[in-house]
Amino acid sequence: MIKKLLDRIFKSKYAKSLAHASNTAKPNHKPHQRAKLTAKNTHKQPDLPHHGALCITHKSHKIDRNLLSNAALKTTEGLHKAGFEAYIVGGAVRDLLLNRTPKDFDVATNATPEQVNRIFRRSRLIGKRFRLVHVLFGDETIEVSTFRGSHLEAEGDAKVTDSGRIIRDNVFGSIVDDALRRDFTANALYYNPASQEVLDFHDGYADIKAGILRIIGKPETRYAEDPVRMLRAVRLSAKLDLKIEAHSEAPIAKMADLLADVPPSRLFDEMLKLFLSGHAMASVTALRAQHLHHGLLPMLDVVLEQAMGERFITLALENTDERILAGKSANPSFLFASLLWHEMLAAWEVHKKAGQHLMPALHLAMSEVIATQAEKLAIHNRYTATMKEIWGMQPRFEQRAGKRPFALLTHPRYRAGYDFLLLRCASGELPMELGDWWTAFANADGEARSAMLLADSAPKKRRRRARKKPTANASVAD
Ligand code: ATP
Ligand code: MG
Repeated sequence: MIKKLLDRIFKSKYAKSLAHASNTAKPNHKPHQRAKLTAKNTHKQPDLPHHGALCITHKSHKIDRNLLSNAALKTTEGLHKAGFEAYIVGGAVRDLLLNRTPKDFDVATNATPEQVNRIFRRSRLIGKRFRLVHVLFGDETIEVSTFRGSHLEAEGDAKVTDSGRIIRDNVFGSIVDDALRRDFTANALYYNPASQEVLDFHDGYADIKAGILRIIGKPETRYAEDPVRMLRAVRLSAKLDLKIEAHSEAPIAKMADLLADVPPSRLFDEMLKLFLSGHAMASVTALRAQHLHHGLLPMLDVVLEQAMGERFITLALENTDERILAGKSANPSFLFASLLWHEMLAAWEVHKKAGQHLMPALHLAMSEVIATQAEKLAIHNRYTATMKEIWGMQPRFEQRAGKRPFALLTHPRYRAGYDFLLLRCASGELPMELGDWWTAFANADGEARSAMLLADSAPKKRRRRARKKPTANASVAD
């Protein structure tokens, strides 16, 4: 019953969306490619199977089913059993076609979020701007989204600003609408694990094989709808070694300012993905080439233009990339502490010059740099606390006498602070000897450690004498 009702709704939407698709989707593909792909498959004819998409069979795409996550398979199976359509979509299909291991699996379906939620016992509805369902299997989470329709539809829960930016996107539609709403052709491929077929609505398969990242539709409109797509273009092209197609690339530099309107928390999430992609260095270089770095993170504007700052950030990003590519984790706090370090040093200097003592000046500088940063790109609080600890430890590494080095070794963030110190030494900011001293000190045993201590040159702390209460005969005693 519900199924029939849904079919009616989706079918009528489907007919509408096909008309919409043929009016609006004018991918700027090379004509010969389209002719070749469509001749055999009569692309986008409403009366054809596969919703009019090009259908790529297992014989051609050769995706190894064993590389799919069990959780994703169980999710599509559950939805199919309940009578819905369900596909693995987006980055996972793209990555598999590129012979890469997908980071995560997303599923798209014609079931509404509530219906998905009812089918899977361990699932939860999430999101407001973009409502979807997380389905949980063990420690794996599959993100299930309902096919999106056009935000231009009068009815439905969508909101667009004057500049064309979509700030809420909860209008449901057909698979054809959904494909049209995705960002790049390579991301608009729908893999059905049951039939092992890939549905391709925008010639993404050909683009992937040609190593091209192409935006779907008119680039200017798509970037205005969501400026983050410009960052995604840079990130995905750097990560996957895909070339941004000329028309998709052309408007980026002149539309870069639109990023200023994106909520700082969303920018943070996107930049974090970029920095933790394993290709941070290549992404940052590309961001600069596309003029997308201005205002995003102050250090990308200023610091990269100073030799020492550039060296420091390059080392930090290279280290992060190495760790990620070796399958290790990278700590976002450490990364952002590195990216903002030279900003921090400059602010610290200002406060010291203004007469503040070392540590109060440092604390003022830390708060100031983080607050300024938050206006553009809001680093989550859970990271800023650790960043401050890493920064706050740095002056303590320069004290190598008395009990202080022993106390520093017991600091819960010692390891991060020490790695940070090594980065400062490697960049030329501090003598390498200091880093080597700490390496040796941490590895030495008790007695050897004591022998390593330097003579205490720090001014002795003056004990405050308890002030005597003025007594009646004080003047006599003096
Ligand atoms: P990654 O490998 O980083 O996960 P991804 O392409 O899978 O890359 P996700 O953020 O997981 O990125 O998004 C999943 C899919 O959702 C994308 O492949 C794309 O089809 C669609 N998508 C994501 N963000 C946007 C956007 N801003 N505009 C349009 N479609 C988007
Ligand atoms: Mg993904």
